[in-house]
Amino acid sequence: MSNVKDTLKRFWQATLAELAPDRYSCIFCDAELYSPNRVGTCPSCTAALPFVGDAYCLKCGKPFLPEGAERPLSHVEDGEVLFLPAADDEQRTSGYCAICRHRERHFDRVRSVFAYQGAPRRAIYRLKYGNARYLAPYLAAYLSDLYLSDPIAVDLVVAVPLHRDRYRTRGYNQAHLLAQDLSARLLLEYKPEALSKTRNTQTQTSLSLKDRQENLHGAFAADKECVHGKSVLVIDDVLTTGATMSEVALTLKKAGAVHVYGLTVANVAEH
Ligand SMILES: [Zn+2]
Ligand SMILES: [Zn+2]
Repeated sequence: MSNVKDTLKRFWQATLAELAPDRYSCIFCDAELYSPNRVGTCPSCTAALPFVGDAYCLKCGKPFLPEGAERPLSHVEDGEVLFLPAADDEQRTSGYCAICRHRERHFDRVRSVFAYQGAPRRAIYRLKYGNARYLAPYLAAYLSDLYLSDPIAVDLVVAVPLHRDRYRTRGYNQAHLLAQDLSARLLLEYKPEALSKTRNTQTQTSLSLKDRQENLHGAFAADKECVHGKSVLVIDDVLTTGATMSEVALTLKKAGAVHVYGLTVANVAEH
């Protein structure tokens, strides 16, 4: 009897596979991918994605718009006003954005794959708030390509942590998912325990840069044994003002880290 059952089950599974073969779709526009690829992206999105390109802040990786380009201002979503700064003359000659020229930055350098707008912005939003965890390996593949385009020697990888209360509410940390996948791709050591968030800070969206820095002061803790004498690569989904990355870098350096580099999927300037 069980043989008949097994045969029927196999037949049914084979029929299902015929009727509904695996379907792969673009992570950005949901168009069907006829040839699946490691970044899960269709050719038309690949051509239109807002990659950071060649003009960016040498410190924090913020993209500069080409000269004469219109600033996509008044881009209000989720209560945030987002824009990319048009590069002024000083940016072009110095290579640093206004924030990095005027504020102390504790990280050595940050690079980002995309400008935080359009399709990548929507994907990150879904990864962060929409439980779309399946996006992490594809976005990590983009991070990996960026890392390999200009590799730096690092001893370990950490993710920007969530406070445990926030973690409980959300159920996962998107930066952790990205860091875990990226480390596996690059055969780097991932140490989630090296960095933790010890104070639950208020959300930063409505705060000015100065208030953000004060809000974050002393909010993280690093494990000296893990990071002492090490070069650390910090992973996050988005760099906004860079206040979080700078505070994380300060915490890691106080615990003895020698260099702190950052890698984020996207990078935004906020007005
Ligand atoms: Zn697409
Ligand atoms: Zn900068």
